[in-house]
Amino acid sequence: KDLNYSNFIQDIINQDLKDGKNDGKVHTRFPPEPNGYLHIGHAKSICLNFGIASRNNGLCNLRFDDTNPSKEDTEYVESIQEDVKWLGFTWDDRMFYASDYFEKLYEYAVKLIGLGKAYVCDLSADEIREYRGTLTEPGKNSPYRERSIGENLSLFESMKNGEFPDGSRVLRAKIDMASPNLNMRDPVIYRILRASHHRTGDKWCIYPMYDYAHPISDYIEGITHSICTLEFEDHRPLYDWCLETLSLDHPRPQQIEFARLNINYTVMSKRKLLELVKGNYVNGWDDPRMPTISGLRRRGFTPESIRDFCDRIGVAKTSSTLDTALLEHCIREDLNKTAKRVMAVLRPLKVIIDNYPEGAEEEFEAENNPEAPDEGTRMIPFSRELYIEQDDFMENPPKGYFRLVPGGEVRLKHAYFIKCTEVVKDESTGEVIELHCTYDPDSRGGNSPDGRKVKGTLHWVSAAHAVDAEVRLYDRLFKEPNPGEDESRDYKEDLNPQSLELLSSCKVEPSLANAGGGSRYQFLRMGYFCADSVDSKPGAPVFNRVVSLKDSWAK
Ligand code: ATP
Ligand code: MG
Ligand code: MG
Repeated sequence: KDLNYSNFIQDIINQDLKDGKNDGKVHTRFPPEPNGYLHIGHAKSICLNFGIASRNNGLCNLRFDDTNPSKEDTEYVESIQEDVKWLGFTWDDRMFYASDYFEKLYEYAVKLIGLGKAYVCDLSADEIREYRGTLTEPGKNSPYRERSIGENLSLFESMKNGEFPDGSRVLRAKIDMASPNLNMRDPVIYRILRASHHRTGDKWCIYPMYDYAHPISDYIEGITHSICTLEFEDHRPLYDWCLETLSLDHPRPQQIEFARLNINYTVMSKRKLLELVKGNYVNGWDDPRMPTISGLRRRGFTPESIRDFCDRIGVAKTSSTLDTALLEHCIREDLNKTAKRVMAVLRPLKVIIDNYPEGAEEEFEAENNPEAPDEGTRMIPFSRELYIEQDDFMENPPKGYFRLVPGGEVRLKHAYFIKCTEVVKDESTGEVIELHCTYDPDSRGGNSPDGRKVKGTLHWVSAAHAVDAEVRLYDRLFKEPNPGEDESRDYKEDLNPQSLELLSSCKVEPSLANAGGGSRYQFLRMGYFCADSVDSKPGAPVFNRVVSLKDSWAK
């Protein structure tokens, strides 16, 4: 048991354990609806549910909350399993589907009718809303509320047997139309819907509502602590009503609400994410700009960094919006420890070293990661023609510019000092296309025996040995901190048109020729990058920028 772990949910569990509630068992569940891919908000719920279970010698189920067939699909069921596993959690044989319980849920509904606690209602959806009343006005009883138990039983069976059209009738819990809580004003618990279910096909034409199915599914699985987000706080009386009315009480699952995770400059509703995918605003659910787990994975985030993020943000009872910079801080910290340092030139400028013998070449030894000496070293080839970053040369530099300038001297990382002797420009555009330099053979390894100082150290690659690469620089998906905040505009109008910059003529050191499969690097001075797991091919790597080097997280 982790004694440093503390939050209000753990406090509740500690009290329950002390009281001997639920025979000392802790059993949670993560209940995604398979109607989209998981996002970073789900990661918080996953870390919380699986984390609470393992910290208390308990169990956590993965349950697909699949009671809404029109939006659900096996593609999502599969991606959710992949993402939970990738995050580092296992459920062994505890993977369930709410649809496993359709038969039982039906039986419990029949039981409710038998208890006089549910009735078939013929009002239309609009009428039900009208009759419900408002926060300041009590509702009105449905004219169908006093149907006899016998009539309700027979009508409900006919609903199940497909004798009525979609939407013509519903089953409602008989609670209290004057309740101050609108959720308790005879909520709908079953509806008629002819939609093929991804698991039960066309077997059912009635489907249970979430508020009814969830407490019973929790009970069936022996869940003790049913953790959900704050918007369900007002639904808790209904959750408890279902269990109490049906006498489902050992163990009696307890619903506990926590604040959902919000992050600025992105959206986190599956409906909106689906719309971005379907409308081709992004390249699929795993587009590296998406806040989805699969997008973050493809971008180059590690499971460790996401778990670390979820630990740091903690669990609270009040909502807040977090800064993306914290998530970036977490991946930067992780990659600083683990990513190999390599040289890659993203916007190449040719450098010719006139006094270096033509056709000659040599190699320099470079350490792979100063933070991890065990990672060893590798050899980097050097020759007469090199590439440096366009930004690392300026003809008319401002004060304080320590990189290469006409007549100036810089150090090439791991190699030599070079001095710029001539600038070659395109005659028509005036653009700098090539630099001529001389090198100081005595500065081999990066220091001059005469103690001469240079301020700038540049990364470079040997032109003859360089590998061509494509690099994708990602920026925030949205240009506003809270997309669509102002009701007057659609959140999509806040998309950042510059969220992706494609660099297609990058030059990287030869050790990266076959980089792939999501391997991660620090490109010296340029940031952390991840070889794209889909588009990288041997000899033609593609890199995604995970995050820049500069940390903007205010600690
Ligand atoms: P969305 O609004 O994005 O569709 P949802 O809550 O409908 O989200 P579910 O598939 O039902 O999505 O979510 C599964 C679990 O993940 C639920 O227990 C839910 O409370 C939790 N969850 C969803 N979004 C967040 C979030 N932003 N922060 C924390 N937990 C979340
Ligand atoms: Mg949900
Ligand atoms: Mg939803």
